[in-house]
Amino acid sequence: MQNSDFDLDQQNQHIESRIVASLERISQAFRVLLWHESKEFSLSPIQVQVLIFLLHHAEEKRKVSYLADEFNMTRATISDTVKLLEQKKLLVKEYEPHDSRSFIINLSAKGTDIARKVSLFSEEIRSPVSKLNQDDKENLMLSLMGIIRHLNQAGVITIQRMCKTCAYYQQTAKGQKHFCKLLNQPLETGDLRIDCPEHELKHG
Ligand code: SF4
Repeated sequence: MQNSDFDLDQQNQHIESRIVASLERISQAFRVLLWHESKEFSLSPIQVQVLIFLLHHAEEKRKVSYLADEFNMTRATISDTVKLLEQKKLLVKEYEPHDSRSFIINLSAKGTDIARKVSLFSEEIRSPVSKLNQDDKENLMLSLMGIIRHLNQAGVITIQRMCKTCAYYQQTAKGQKHFCKLLNQPLETGDLRIDCPEHELKHG
């Protein structure tokens, strides 16, 4: 049987396990910071995440089905979250003219105000990242994108909107240069996007 990444002997012998354990610590930090922010505004962590998502994404993504995929939750759970946020007057449903059961979720003025405030919850994580030199930042970002892509292909997480899975993305044979066919321009490694509004899923 394979050893656990959380087995200390395994960690001491394998850097891969130390990296996995480090990522787990960082995910714990996200949970703690999100929890602090939630308590401050009497919201649950998923309510905070939904508010932040609504603040930064266009209307075709502001729907229950998309949110369910985005957060890897059932539609019923997301519908309950939306209902509670609506009761708190933080969002408004905009029903679509062609289908009275389908609606776009918009933030209310109060919801926008709170979403702006809670969206700063990750500042403490950005702080050490911003102190890295540019090469280290780019290497870290490429490594994380590779991990995210693997998790997506393995079916652990569903939606991601990164350049490397985009139909508009091109790379040179040696894999050193990046190009966006939509913007019609080369992209530096530091310009690669993790959540692009124009992302078009590449099939195959
Ligand atoms: S459209 Fe966006 S995600 Fe796609 S390659 Fe261009 S910048 Fe990247």
